[in-house]
Amino acid sequence: MKTQTRVVVIGGGIAGCSTLYHLTREGWTDVVLVERDELTSGTTWHSAAQVTNFGQTQTMVGLKSHSIALYQELRDDPDYPVDYKHGDGGIRLANTEAQMDGYRHFASMARGMGVEFEVLDAEECARRHPLISTENLLGGLWDPSDGDIDPAQLCQALARRARKAGAEVYRNTPVTGLTQHADDSWTVHTDKGDIACEIVVNACGYRVNEVGAMMGVHHPVMSMEHQYFVTEEIPAIREAGHRMPLLRCPISDYYCRQEKNGLLVGFYEQDCKTWGMDGIDPHFVNALCPDDLDRITDVLEGAFARMPALMEVGIHTVVNGPITYTIDGAPLVGPIPGKRNAFCIIGLRAGLGEGGGHGWLLAQQIVHGEAVYDTWGLDPRRFTGHANVELTALKAIEDYQNEFRFHFPNEHRPAGRMAKTTPLTPVLAAEGAEFTVVNGWERAELFKPDPGFEITHSFRFDEAEALVAAEVAAVQTAVGLCEVNGFNRIEITGADAESFLNRMICGRMPRKEGRVGLTYLLNEHGMVKAEATLARLPASDRGPARIWYGSAAASEFHDMDWLAQHVRPGEDVSLRSLTNDQTILVLAGPKARDVLSAVSRGDWSAQGFPWLSVREGFVGIAPVTVMAVSFSGELAYEIHVPNASLYNAYLSLRAAGEAHGLRLFGARAVESMRLEKGYLHWKADILTEFDPYETGLDRFVTPDKPDFIGKAALLAREGTARHRLVTLRLPGGPEAPNAAAHPGASVMHGGKVVGTVTSGGYGHRVGANLAYAFLKPGAPETGLTVDVLGAQVAAEITERGLYDPHMARVRA
Ligand SMILES: Cc1cc2nc3c(=O)[nH]c(=O)nc-3n(C[C@H](O)[C@H](O)[C@H](O)COP(=O)(O)OP(=O)(O)OC[C@H]3O[C@@H](n4cnc5c(N)ncnc54)[C@H](O)[C@@H]3O)c2cc1C
Repeated sequence: MKTQTRVVVIGGGIAGCSTLYHLTREGWTDVVLVERDELTSGTTWHSAAQVTNFGQTQTMVGLKSHSIALYQELRDDPDYPVDYKHGDGGIRLANTEAQMDGYRHFASMARGMGVEFEVLDAEECARRHPLISTENLLGGLWDPSDGDIDPAQLCQALARRARKAGAEVYRNTPVTGLTQHADDSWTVHTDKGDIACEIVVNACGYRVNEVGAMMGVHHPVMSMEHQYFVTEEIPAIREAGHRMPLLRCPISDYYCRQEKNGLLVGFYEQDCKTWGMDGIDPHFVNALCPDDLDRITDVLEGAFARMPALMEVGIHTVVNGPITYTIDGAPLVGPIPGKRNAFCIIGLRAGLGEGGGHGWLLAQQIVHGEAVYDTWGLDPRRFTGHANVELTALKAIEDYQNEFRFHFPNEHRPAGRMAKTTPLTPVLAAEGAEFTVVNGWERAELFKPDPGFEITHSFRFDEAEALVAAEVAAVQTAVGLCEVNGFNRIEITGADAESFLNRMICGRMPRKEGRVGLTYLLNEHGMVKAEATLARLPASDRGPARIWYGSAAASEFHDMDWLAQHVRPGEDVSLRSLTNDQTILVLAGPKARDVLSAVSRGDWSAQGFPWLSVREGFVGIAPVTVMAVSFSGELAYEIHVPNASLYNAYLSLRAAGEAHGLRLFGARAVESMRLEKGYLHWKADILTEFDPYETGLDRFVTPDKPDFIGKAALLAREGTARHRLVTLRLPGGPEAPNAAAHPGASVMHGGKVVGTVTSGGYGHRVGANLAYAFLKPGAPETGLTVDVLGAQVAAEITERGLYDPHMARVRA
């Protein structure tokens, strides 16, 4: 066994084998995989191993396409052909129009990744799958590439190829401990000796937290028991003369594929069961949980009704095994938060289908620092301090119970709610707030006129659009108040704080103390990594001179890691998170200054406190830090308040606002207004796939600065064909065609995909259905359509920031 290597991958299921293989493909061959037992002896060996191309984001579709292409290559490898049944086709069923709309959207989104799905009616579903009835069926989504693979052969083939390239695989070698050294390298302790390495990868399936504990972290991953059975032979299958397509059913929560001449049917029962929460028997190897068919009677009935042939056939085998889940159902693939040189590929619940792609994207992150796609949807840092085992379990159960029922826009499910709140949460709830969840924080989305007001979740404009319009109107004509909790805030101090930040950002620092500026951080490839509002605060009785780095709530761990990892040895820079201590109250609208002046001493006039200023002060008796910045496009103040004083500040502002028609507003109104202003959202419109020029951030780049991270790569891209972020105006609105262009929808020209929507919604002040989209290099600028829920809707490029383009209102 080697005593020194570059990367140690821990775990020899599909996650570990795929990572190892892809590391070698990226050119790193001095890598090893360490497996406590035999390869595939965790979950992988007993997987139903279905391989679909379906995904709900372009990254997921893209990584699954990679899996499929790789598995085809392995199938066709004469040296070691893997049994991969590709192209049986698969149908996701639907019995509501809302689900059908979802499928239409996912088909539009997949087209942008070169994947063609078909939306079928019920009769066509039954024609393609002769065993199903059309009762209570509207139709489905057809994935032509659906199939299944032999999991053990797949892992062996990947390990074999990796070994050929120079990697080594050590079986029956449990990792027993991990030690990180001052230079961030690791020693991996195994029962056969130590291996020194630069980088470790946790790919330990349901034992993820045994290995996590060895490095002092707890991953928000836990396991559910999951069962399928395989039937005896069904004559109708033999007689059909073709293989049965796969089925996935959100109506009765099961999936089904052909196995020999019978069916393999897997269930997601409501009465589901967590597994291994209090520790896992060390001898649970190549093992299954006891059969428990009683648990699935609820969903079994639905499967019988859809496929009556199932009732006439015996059960040959039952498989009940642990399957890992995370808080949002997607795996954790990427850097481990708060750690250096440590990565994970865990929480895979569809690891056979996705594993090829996840290993590919992880290997790219390890070797190049970034993958071909923006991987935020998989990034382990998307969950932060609230992501404990109890919350993970609640969300896992909820997710399991809704396995095939995708979330609709603005749908926030009830499990594990109120994870992060402020003193205002119950106050806003009493005011009628409907909450959305942002990095665990309960953030008011809109205010309902009465508790009975129901919002129907769908891909169409919903009943709440009128409420959003009224909130926007209040902000536009008078003044609104909005709580923005969880906004990421890092206080940066030290003699080198300014030079450090100057190196991190691609633009200019705010000129002097008392000023605020919007800035962007690039990665080494010159692509946009982060967005930050920097506020320079002078020394005061609240602390020494300091810079506040503010960014999206979701970026809390991501941005802290990025900054911390770039502080050079010897640099005098301290980073302190204030995210959980401070909350923002946004006061926005033409009367905002009147309200602020009524409760806070000082000169808040346009001259005394112009746009992009920051100042410490008081609202009533609450100590606050006020910034003159606006995401709504109206005159606005961000009032940063320590949570202990938040309620007090709120009461003062509400009382002062009464005379000016102050109204509460929520995140949906903010979303509508920022689209009209051309403002971007991190990880919706700001992605690591595009550089700042492609993203339309030219004025935030100072290319003549001596240096900044990503500068060389950005300059090297000069003259290359580039994407372009544009604003599109579509017909319709809350009336026909009554849907926004949802993120991921394809922009088309002459039947070809020329771009992808990143954000969309109705702009109530300009009265337009708006969308942002990245257009491919050289895409035409006229004759565009967007595929909105299956309809080709004409789309016209319009100027970015339709509302008040000269910023008169913000500067008023
Ligand atoms: C019943 C069932 C049906 C499924 N059907 C499908 C399907 O149809 N399609 C699909 O895509 N997915 C399916 N899945 C999910 C899929 O099987 C898993 O996502 C996948 O197998 C997980 O692979 P993994 O490599 O992450 O974990 P594992 O396969 O569990 O591998 C982890 C490995 O890490 C090793 N390990 C743990 N601790 C240590 C240590 N200390 N030192 C060294 N090694 C260690 C383990 O021994 C194990 O081999 C199904 C799962 C179940 C349970």
